[in-house]
Amino acid sequence: VIGRAVTGNVLAVDVGGTKLAVGLVSPDGEIVTSATVPTSPTGLGRDEELWTTLVRLIDEVCSAEQPAAVGIGCGGPMRWPEGEVSPVNLLAWQSFPLRARIQQRFDRIPVRLINDGIAMAIGEHWRGAGAGSGAFLGIVVSTGVGGGLLLDGKVVTGRSGHAGHIGHLVVDPQGPLCGCGGRGCLEAIARGPALVQWAIDNGWNAPPAADGKALLAAAECGDPVAAAAFERAGAALGVAIASAVHLVELDTVAVGGGLAGAGEHLLGPARRAFIEHARMRFAADCVIVPAALGADAGLIGAAALVARGDRYWTTQGAD
Ligand SMILES: [Zn+2]
Repeated sequence: VIGRAVTGNVLAVDVGGTKLAVGLVSPDGEIVTSATVPTSPTGLGRDEELWTTLVRLIDEVCSAEQPAAVGIGCGGPMRWPEGEVSPVNLLAWQSFPLRARIQQRFDRIPVRLINDGIAMAIGEHWRGAGAGSGAFLGIVVSTGVGGGLLLDGKVVTGRSGHAGHIGHLVVDPQGPLCGCGGRGCLEAIARGPALVQWAIDNGWNAPPAADGKALLAAAECGDPVAAAAFERAGAALGVAIASAVHLVELDTVAVGGGLAGAGEHLLGPARRAFIEHARMRFAADCVIVPAALGADAGLIGAAALVARGDRYWTTQGAD
């Protein structure tokens, strides 16, 4: 237990399926220095190679300064709070003891790990679009759809560290299959690759290796299928947000992640669907805003796990 806030810079680590980011973050949440590399290798059985990639990055960032503590955000699922991770978008690590490995390298300082969606939400609550919110949901719309929840200003982790998984709220029971094995989850409709595939299936004349960026460019040029893909994903997002708001009376929802770069192409339909489905005053008052920290939210949130003492950390209720 840390209890009080630490005084020195902390090491923040953000592990995702496409990139690894590492940074030193000041006690007030400024990124002092950071470095990013593509996540590689990612394949099954390459666990030690991927670990070596991460260690190189950590050594680079910590070459001039030893951190006061370490905070880590990583894709789930995971064993939490132990920090043994099996990220669904990173086959190289299956039950990989990430927290323990990093603890071995940084003897005698606190090392904490949390789901990356929760880390993003904490970052936005500490320094971004959720500042001051009493009931906040941060959503990441990217290769997947993740999120994290703070109620009464406190992080909601759930008993196994997986609370806030808004990507698997069901928005269409007859909808497409989801990577989780279910059907009609928000993620199955609104994740970047799903938008691109839907657009292609509906006649979008896609460039080679088209991604969300290419789809956005097409939508901005007035391509009706590309625009409809964002409309459909945004509407699903708005339905999911409306459901979440009714359940826990959110006051603020911030939407970030790569696809949030689409701005009003995504948020416009999300707000319209939200208004359609959030009819009671207490729900309708919730505001949906763009996330403020961009790609830094994960690092800043990971840092907050240790830089802010126990402000953004609890293991109460954990298995
Ligand atoms: Zn799902």
